[in-house]
Amino acid sequence: TDIAGLDAHLVDCRACPRLVEWRERVAREKRASFRNETYWGRPVPGFGPADASLLIVGLAPAAHGANRTGRMFTGDRSGDFLYAALHAVGLASQPTATRIGDGLELFGVRITSPVHCAPPANKPTPAERDNCRHWLDAELRILQPGLRSVIVLGGFGWQSLLPVLDDAGWAVPRPRPKFGHGAHVELAGAEHPLHLFGCYHVSQQNTFTGRLTPAMLESVLSDAARVAGL
Ligand code: SF4
Repeated sequence: TDIAGLDAHLVDCRACPRLVEWRERVAREKRASFRNETYWGRPVPGFGPADASLLIVGLAPAAHGANRTGRMFTGDRSGDFLYAALHAVGLASQPTATRIGDGLELFGVRITSPVHCAPPANKPTPAERDNCRHWLDAELRILQPGLRSVIVLGGFGWQSLLPVLDDAGWAVPRPRPKFGHGAHVELAGAEHPLHLFGCYHVSQQNTFTGRLTPAMLESVLSDAARVAGL
């Protein structure tokens, strides 16, 4: 299957009862506050071209961001922070992301997450992560021929992604490399190596406190783009 086929299947997934209930309840209850919009309330597919050489991996859709708009990191403060930085380093066509159809394009970059439905308190369970893993496996396999670098936003994404990379044929060292902001590991692969970067998540917890600044994020994005040939 191709990436469009994968995304089309993903949006119908109902494998996690707790997340299905939550994503739909939030959509029902909050629709009133966003009256002129359709509230997505479904799994959120990855965003960006199938021939991306740089992949950004987050955690899960936010209840009123991606779960509302249907596009990764779109419509909330975390996304404002991420897309402003992507635009600043030349990887996005505009600094803002408000809704599907706003004209935003990513250049050589795709954004995805190990869990595709909004979880209560932004905390998926290990079982939900495991349920969702086959979607990430499939996405990785489609992207693999052109993929040269991955930025993981936060420890949850890092822990989720390493086994997937391992199974996809990249040599993940043992003991497994630890997540940290600024972590950079080069994984050998059958066809080509993959550069793995760690970056603090763009959540408000990190960006409001200055733990993650725009300059820090732009620096990781630039490093990852350079080794990806972007
Ligand atoms: Fe399906 Fe993933 Fe959503 Fe679970 S989190 S319902 S596996 S898309």
